[in-house]
Parts: sequence; structure tokens; C-alpha cells
Amino acid sequence: MPYDLQPVASHFVNGRYVEDISGASMPVIYPATGEIIAQVHEATPAIIEDALTSARAAQKAWAAMSGTERGRILRRAADMIRERNRDLSILESHDTGKPLSETLYVDATSGADALEYFGGLAGALTGEHIPLGEDWVYTRREPLGLCVGIGAWNYPTQIACWKGAPALACGNAMVFKPSETTPLCALKVAEILHEAGLPAGLYNVIQGGGAVGGALVGDARVDKVSLTGSVPTGRKVYAAAAEGIKHVTMELGGKSPLVIFEDADLDNAVGGAILGNFYSSGQVCSNGTRVFVHRTIKEAFLERLSARLAQAVIGDPLDEATNFGPMVSERQMQIVQGYIETGQAEGARLVTGGARLDRPGFYLEPTVFADVSDGMAIAREEIFGPVMAVLDFEDEDEVIARANATEFGLSAGVFTRDLARAHRVIGQLEAGSCFINSYNDAPVEAPFGGAKMSGVGRENSKAAIEHYSQLKSVYVRMGNVEAPF
Ligand code: NDP
Repeated sequence: MPYDLQPVASHFVNGRYVEDISGASMPVIYPATGEIIAQVHEATPAIIEDALTSARAAQKAWAAMSGTERGRILRRAADMIRERNRDLSILESHDTGKPLSETLYVDATSGADALEYFGGLAGALTGEHIPLGEDWVYTRREPLGLCVGIGAWNYPTQIACWKGAPALACGNAMVFKPSETTPLCALKVAEILHEAGLPAGLYNVIQGGGAVGGALVGDARVDKVSLTGSVPTGRKVYAAAAEGIKHVTMELGGKSPLVIFEDADLDNAVGGAILGNFYSSGQVCSNGTRVFVHRTIKEAFLERLSARLAQAVIGDPLDEATNFGPMVSERQMQIVQGYIETGQAEGARLVTGGARLDRPGFYLEPTVFADVSDGMAIAREEIFGPVMAVLDFEDEDEVIARANATEFGLSAGVFTRDLARAHRVIGQLEAGSCFINSYNDAPVEAPFGGAKMSGVGRENSKAAIEHYSQLKSVYVRMGNVEAPF
């Protein structure tokens, strides 16, 4: 039985659903039809206060439990998410418009992976013993306290879990604010965590836009802020967090290079470029949207790419045959349409796509521009939609320099059969999450995050533990204290 699209209430605070209809109404729009499918209310100051107070109150007792006990609850939640994967995926498809053929495999399942992984690690979090003659220092790995998570709209379940799982594993409490565009999925994550045994107050979800996010970030009781969003928002949130010297994780935007050398397996390279540009209708932060193709294979690449794109099944996200859905919102669609117009005005060659589909909902065709030059807006700015820019190159040093000539540094990919070249090039690309003969894999075991303006900190993997805990070092003297007077 799929979940009701209308949530029980707008917020999940202190272990239960709560409502406060005095908060501004936020309609939830199904991107495939443009219809309103649910209504939630923005968090009022009273809801924000309840979330922060209950998180603060619950955190100490949670941190005092053993890591194994904490981890058991997270792993139970992971199992429950997997059991309910289909229902959660249907909800995710309504929240985002992404096709079920994606959400069944990468959203709730990736959230479950994070809960399972960090649940497993929780019992293994320790400090170290540092011998100093007869004295010694020991370190304690302690939680940060109260963490705020703020999410983007492209992966609402995954982001809620990628932030919540390591935070809870380390003994923190979390207040999570989803994007106002996709408010539904994080509520289910909170519900399931509590059903799995999470004590009340440790994972709260409150709705709202930037103002609610800003109120959370600015609160003196908050110790850490983890944002997934754009660079402009990241700048604001980072600055606000700096006022309170808070810890931050910033998972921000990108304009990542995908370099395809002349010796690449062309079908694999085309497949990588498709995954890195058109999955989730191009609404993926790590996408390789600047596709540098060696001049000698460019036309062959474009021909095969166009043939494969012609096979995209665009349509109803709930039909499992569909593999390309709508944009998340009318606004995002308009932003992307603006870039398509700009690309044409700048003189790029429109190889395929470019149009809005003549049907309800926010559908754009998968779009490819060739003959793109480095200075064009479509090669410099994050579009966050299904628009690939293909640029030609001649040699390795040139393409490395051009690939790095951006303020962003989230991801990078290389396709070549020459593995020495692959490692040499990847070693010089300025990006946090890189791929050789692949694109956009994000296993929980691997660190994920950006260099340069694309972010600070890492999610997933053991690296995330560093960003949700702090070390206390304790010097222990065994002998007498020798003071100068
Ligand atoms: P935004 O930057 O617009 O928003 C991100 C979140 O921040 C939203 O919840 C938003 O609220 C909130 N917010 C906005 N202003 C403030 C503020 N002043 N204080 C606190 N919170 C605020 O990003 P989008 O939601 O449009 O998502 C797309 C962006 O996210 C792209 O740039 C993409 O690259 C990036 N992204 C990065 C990822 C990564 O891991 N590196 C992964 C996924 C996306 P609201 O929108 O509800 O008003």
C-alpha cells in the first residue's frame, strides 16, 4: 500500500508528527503534471524552537549510549527502509519527478546504505592512546552536539540519510530542513528512524525555505551545519556559521569536466556521458557537463550519443519503462530553458533536443550542444538540467588546463584505455570525486565532496566521521607536578 502523499503533519519533532497551520502554506507540486499533491506549512518560530530544544535535550543521553547500541538502531532503520523501498521510491518520484526506474535503485537504497554503513561503524569509533614515557595522552572521539542539515531538492531521501546517519552514529542530534520544493521524503526517514527505536528528539524534520534554514544556522545552540545546495547559498550559510565558529560541511555545485581521449572505448564513453548528464534529468551536482572530446573522435561520439539519446523513454515517472522524467519545478525548467537559449545565442551548435515537451509537467528534452567554447556561459555556469556541452581538444596538457579553469571542483572523469594516462590526468584534475572509465558512482564506502568552490568536508566513508565528531585529548601525569614556584 503506497504512502499517502499528504503527510500526517508538516514536521517531525521530538519523536512525533506536529503541525502548526499558522506557518505559511507550502504546496507540494508533482513535476510530472504540475498538480498540487500535498500541502505542508512552513515552520513557525515555535516549531523551530521545539526542534532545537528537543534535539539539545536528547543528545547527551544518546551520546552516552555505546556506539554498538546506537548503530543497532541505525541498522534496523536501514532494514526497514529496504523493506519499504517501493513505497519510499513512489513517494520520492512524486516529490522530485524522477522516474521510478531510478528511484527504486538509488534513493531510499542509498539512504539505507548510509544507515547500514555508519550503523556498522558506530561501535568502532574510538580514540587513541599516546604513550609519553610514564605519562600518556588519550583521545576521546566525542560528538559535536547539535547538527543542522539543510538539503537540496534533487535527492531528498538520500541527503536526509547521508547527513543523518553519520551525525547519529557519532552521538549527535540533528534538525533537518529539506528543500521547500521536496518536503515529503525526509519526514519518512524521521518516522522510520523512530520506529526503529531512535529516542525522541534526535532526528527532527522541519519545513521551510531559506529563512527557516537561516534561523537554524544562526542559532547559538547549533554546533554544526551541513548544507547541500548551490554555491551562492553555500557562501551565505558558511558566513552565517562562521559567526558562531560552527563546524561546516558544504556540498555545493559543480561544472565538472569529463575528458574523453581518442583511444577511449567509445560506447563506454558515451554511456558515461549519458550517466553524467541526463540521469535525474541532469539535476545532479557531480555531473560531467563539460564533455571534452578529442577532436579526432568528436563526430563519431556525437553520432553515437544522438542515437542513444533517441532511445530515451520520456514520460510518466511511475511507469517503470520511463527512464527520463521532468524537471523538479517550473522555475528550474525555466532556468534551464534560459541556458538553452543562451547557448544558441552564443553560437553553440544544437546537436539534439532543446525543446520543452508538449505535455503537462516540466519536461525538457535531453539537450546536447557541440562546438562549445570555454568562454560561453553554458560552459562556465552550473545549469542543473539536461544540457551537455561538448568541447573539442587536441592534447593532454591543454585539456587539463582547460578542465581546471573553473571555480568549481566537485567531480572529474577520464575515459581512455591508457591507464597510465588515466591516473596521470586524474592526478592533475582539481576535483574531489573522480572517475576513470566510469561516471557518477557514489558508493557509501568512498568519500564524496568537492574541492575549490564546490565545497568543504566530505560525506560518506570513514572521512565523514571526522566531520561529525571532535577529538578531546587528555594528558595524564603519573608523577608529581613540577611548577616553577
Ligand atoms: P539552493 O542552494 O537553492 O538551496 C539549498 C538549501 O538551502 C535549500 O533547502 C534552501 O531552502 C536552503 N537555503 C537557501 N537559502 C538559505 C539561507 N540563507 N540559509 C539557510 N538555508 C538556505 O540549492 P537547490 O535546492 O536549488 O539545489 C541545487 C543545488 O544544490 C545545485 O547547485 C547543486 O549542485 C547542489 N547540490 C550539491 C550536491 C553536493 O553534494 N555537492 C548534491 C546535490 C545538489 P529552499 O530552497 O527550501 O528555500
